[in-house]
Amino acid sequence: MEKIKVGVLGATGSVGQRFIQLLENHPYFTVTHLAASEKSAGQTYGDVMKSRWKISSDIPAYAKDIIISLPNPEVTKGVQLVFSGLDASIAGEVETAYAEAGVMVLSNSKNHRMDPNVPILSAEVNAHHLDVLQFQKTKGKIITNSNCTIMGVTISLKPVMDAFGLKSVMLFSMQAISGAGYPGVPTMDILGNVVPYIGGEEDKAEVEPQKCLGTVEGGIIKSADFKISAHCNRVPVFDGHTVCVSVSFDKKPKKEEILKVWADFQGEPQKLGLPFAPNPAILYREENDRPQPRLDLETGRGMTTVVGRLREDPILDWKWVVLSHNTIRGAAGAAILNAELLYQKGFFN
Ligand code: NAP
Repeated sequence: MEKIKVGVLGATGSVGQRFIQLLENHPYFTVTHLAASEKSAGQTYGDVMKSRWKISSDIPAYAKDIIISLPNPEVTKGVQLVFSGLDASIAGEVETAYAEAGVMVLSNSKNHRMDPNVPILSAEVNAHHLDVLQFQKTKGKIITNSNCTIMGVTISLKPVMDAFGLKSVMLFSMQAISGAGYPGVPTMDILGNVVPYIGGEEDKAEVEPQKCLGTVEGGIIKSADFKISAHCNRVPVFDGHTVCVSVSFDKKPKKEEILKVWADFQGEPQKLGLPFAPNPAILYREENDRPQPRLDLETGRGMTTVVGRLREDPILDWKWVVLSHNTIRGAAGAAILNAELLYQKGFFN
């Protein structure tokens, strides 16, 4: 089958660069359209990114000669899907414009996440949320990723919620600086320091997992019924968000029962053998001092959710630590996996 033409909006940013890297030689998709701001538009991707590429592999040759445009669905020429890594100040209206023009939009921004018939899609967790797309009014459809901080948390919660029911969740994040985009947090604020505030982050972390873990009722997504309290912190780590999670259950499970549901966890991506599907989806590390960003971030090419330190919580029931790669599993990789799911489900036929 011929490859689907795709675009990357916000192609010059932290998330955009990951898309460019991860989409090289993709079996289903070929990148033909790149968009960014006025600062970059009209120049080739190779020229613009000479001093801005921050990933430890070269800029893929396929992207270097593509001329960056301003976001504009009129110039997409046969593009059926765009991956969006746009800044939230512009993402909402631009993504709607592409959807109105008939393009499928896979967004990493917060703007449309809480719209009732827009899925926060995490392919292993809630593939059934695609059922609400038919109720979106635009010709193209909008699908979002969750916030990168709670991506791995939600994946770790899914199998235990299904098996034991969730009552409440406390989470404490240690978030990498790449999560703030480029150039992000000033060096003098973050080197040798911890910043116990990330604007808007706790608000997202306290509502998005419930939507992601919710049900589809009457054409909209109904959030799961449990509460989250979140503390979000920026730490001097380059990539990888680590989150400490404490959970109380409807029915307190035994440790071996939690480990078993994590080990057995598979979603549609694994069953369909999608190219970006990590196997395993969740890896539990037995060592007392894991997961760590430096040691565990590349697990499953950055797509596996790495969990460790499962132990009893004296206030709630159980606690553990989750690590996920914020620009891969928490952004570009997850959106590509979502797009692969759409492709295999016939959305581009
Ligand atoms: P970033 O590094 O600041 O990149 C922002 C991108 O948006 C750049 O390509 C920029 O283009 C483009 N842009 C900004 N203003 C624009 C305008 N007026 N018109 C067109 N393009 C414009 O940010 P990021 O970290 O990649 O994040 C992108 C989105 O993903 C944000 O909504 C963020 O919350 C979300 N997200 C980020 C992460 C992460 O780990 N970084 C993870 C998950 C989700 P120029 O370079 O030309 O200015």
